[in-house]
Amino acid sequence: MIVELSENAPAIDIQKLIERLKWAGLHVSFVQEGVYRRLAIIGKDIDLKYLANLPLVKKIVPSKQPYKLAGSDFKKERTVINVKGHSIGDGTLTVIAGPCSIESEEQIYACAKIVAENGAKILRGGAFKPRTSPYSFQGLGEEGLIFLQKAAAEYGLLTISEVMDTADIELLTQYADILQVGARNMQNFSLLKRLGQCKKPVFLKRGMSATYKDLLMAAEYILSSGNEQVILCERGIRTFEDYTRNTMDIAAIPILKELSHLPVFADPSHGTGLRNMVLPMSCAAVAAGADGLMIEVHPNPDKAYSDAEQTIGPEAFAILMKKVYSGIANVK
Ligand code: PEP
Ligand code: MN
Repeated sequence: MIVELSENAPAIDIQKLIERLKWAGLHVSFVQEGVYRRLAIIGKDIDLKYLANLPLVKKIVPSKQPYKLAGSDFKKERTVINVKGHSIGDGTLTVIAGPCSIESEEQIYACAKIVAENGAKILRGGAFKPRTSPYSFQGLGEEGLIFLQKAAAEYGLLTISEVMDTADIELLTQYADILQVGARNMQNFSLLKRLGQCKKPVFLKRGMSATYKDLLMAAEYILSSGNEQVILCERGIRTFEDYTRNTMDIAAIPILKELSHLPVFADPSHGTGLRNMVLPMSCAAVAAGADGLMIEVHPNPDKAYSDAEQTIGPEAFAILMKKVYSGIANVK
């Protein structure tokens, strides 16, 4: 239930009401946007009449959104996430770039150089890789994270890396500024709940057969566990089309932005699986209102240990950055 509070309701009365509802075993979240103050009350059936009659309650907002905290019915203003001074979701475009996997110290330094020189702010690199085959390269683990952090520091970049297991959250938080949840783990609910207790932003990628509602409900797990810093990412879904690795769902971007206040990114690398499609799909995503892009870049893409076919090289990345920041792609 979403409750809009009266503009002149005293803060102390609101606080008392929140405490009483929490005492009754309900989850209560509060948001203030200008003069508007709203409560999301979640839990067992509540006595609507009792709340509607309170003087501090202006109205009960009818909301069909099951993702109460992630939904735009509760929070109208867009969520802006501040990562060490860099704002995500404030209307500017944020580019995350780097290799699929961290392969060596040399490789991630070379990637960081390309990323920084072209004006991107966040360095990606997987140290724990969710590979289809157990015989494929699984990532360098902590050693890779050390390389990632050092390379990012050298070039003044922020870092993001995937966390696959609750057991690794602690480790990841030491090295990464943003924790990535991959498509395969989007509905790993114990992982999501534990990330909800984390202080770091979570980059939540859409599962390959997840609906918008599934993705937003996954975000709800993190938000309702106490972490408000969630970034959504469209990374392509499985369809009958097998020319591309996945079908990049561009409509997901404006739709998720309508349904939710959370920043929405697009990953055209996994979204198509094809190197030549990364530029056009990046432009399409920006035109559709994406708050950011995640791009796989490697100094020698053909030699990348993972996802080589969808990884672009330094020249293509330079062109992409110029294009997406030129305003041509941006019709916002
Ligand atoms: C990745 O970002 O390298 C990755 C594994 O992505 P996804 O979870 O979207 O497949
Ligand atoms: Mn990859």
